[in-house]
Amino acid sequence: QAAMEESTSRTTKKKLVAVVGGGLVGSLNACFFAKRGFDVEVFEIREDIRKAKVVRGRSINLALSHRGRQALKHVGIEEKIVSQGIPMQARMIHSLNGKQYPIPYGRKGQYILSVDRANLNKQLLTEADSYPNTKLNFDHKLQDWSTETGLMTFVRPDGSKVQIKADLIVGCDGAFSATRKQFLRRSRFNYSQTYIPHGYMELTMPPVNGEFAMKPNYLHIWPRNTFMMIALPNLDRTFTCTLFMPFEDFEKITTGDEVIKFFQKYFPDTIPLIGVDALKRDYFRLPAQAMVSVKCSPYHIDDKCVLMGDAAHAVVPFYGQGMNAGFEDCIVFDEMMEQFNEDFSAVLPEYSRVRVPDDHAIADLAMYNYIEMRAHVNSKWFLFRKHVDNL
Ligand code: FAD
Repeated sequence: QAAMEESTSRTTKKKLVAVVGGGLVGSLNACFFAKRGFDVEVFEIREDIRKAKVVRGRSINLALSHRGRQALKHVGIEEKIVSQGIPMQARMIHSLNGKQYPIPYGRKGQYILSVDRANLNKQLLTEADSYPNTKLNFDHKLQDWSTETGLMTFVRPDGSKVQIKADLIVGCDGAFSATRKQFLRRSRFNYSQTYIPHGYMELTMPPVNGEFAMKPNYLHIWPRNTFMMIALPNLDRTFTCTLFMPFEDFEKITTGDEVIKFFQKYFPDTIPLIGVDALKRDYFRLPAQAMVSVKCSPYHIDDKCVLMGDAAHAVVPFYGQGMNAGFEDCIVFDEMMEQFNEDFSAVLPEYSRVRVPDDHAIADLAMYNYIEMRAHVNSKWFLFRKHVDNL
């Protein structure tokens, strides 16, 4: 009987898995499925970012932590990615008077890594591409798919349409997932979407005499209670500073001089480091970007389709776990594939059952951590100082 099952599972290996979205989670997921021997096709709306001159997307860099690393390790690329990351051992709190205080993330030797989003995505695509059973299709926008037949319709940049049928559709097409649209039409599918009243804006802090302008092995935070700025280091010795603030406050600042006045009041230590001219210019380069939190359940339809990454659970970025949780989705799914002998009809419901509560928990923690980062770190430090002063 066991031998029979083994041989059945081997003959089913040639099933086609369509991964919609070649972002961070989609490209990693393609590696997991390819490693299992499935035929894998990735469909990505954008052109191949490895060849593109300008890569549009969200944050320039992000924090990679243990969960994400575990998933990278599983497909053999942890070291490659980690070697191009910058360890951040602690948060570095910048108080208004310019003093800096570290708050470690964990015990000695523990750290999270600042990694370049575009580079990570490129490396994951290259890794997926290296499997002979994987095909990457760029400039393919998923328009719709059929829950009955699994037939997907993609639109090409010239307006032409391509139809492809897959045995399993894996929706990794991000917070505004087109794959998810079919879920919304179904009974007993729960869905909620919340925009927070804050937006974010990225500013660059250049190197000083070829060196980092601040200590590089920290995630710098300027907590100002109702808003905050953070800065993560990049390999080119710049820092990417991200200002998180209510949209109405962003909109109150309308001239270069007002930008400087605002920075003088709240982030005076950063003005010489970012530069007056750069601040005046870059603040108006792009409008502040919105942040959305999406929760839904279940994550699957029958044995046909499953959502992972932001398509299943877009979270606000304050816990630094959106991508990490998405990477963990891949490893959890893979473990279930092992447990249920790659039987989609058993794996998909079990995946929803196990994963929904965990991903919803991350979403809640991320919401909460915004208050922690912009306000509570202030008071925690205050309490700690008091404790030290009393010793
Ligand atoms: P995405 O990265 O959004 O990728 C989706 C892909 O699908 C894209 O390539 C897109 O082009 C493609 N696509 C979309 N629609 C279609 C379609 N119809 N057809 C075909 N393709 C399509 N996470 C962390 O873990 N750590 C951090 O420090 C961190 N910082 C962040 C900072 C900011 C400011 C923001 C906004 C997010 C941050 N995140 C962080 C979250 C992280 O960016 C996301 O969780 C992660 O990008 C999710 O990956 P994904 O592949 O699921 O979705």
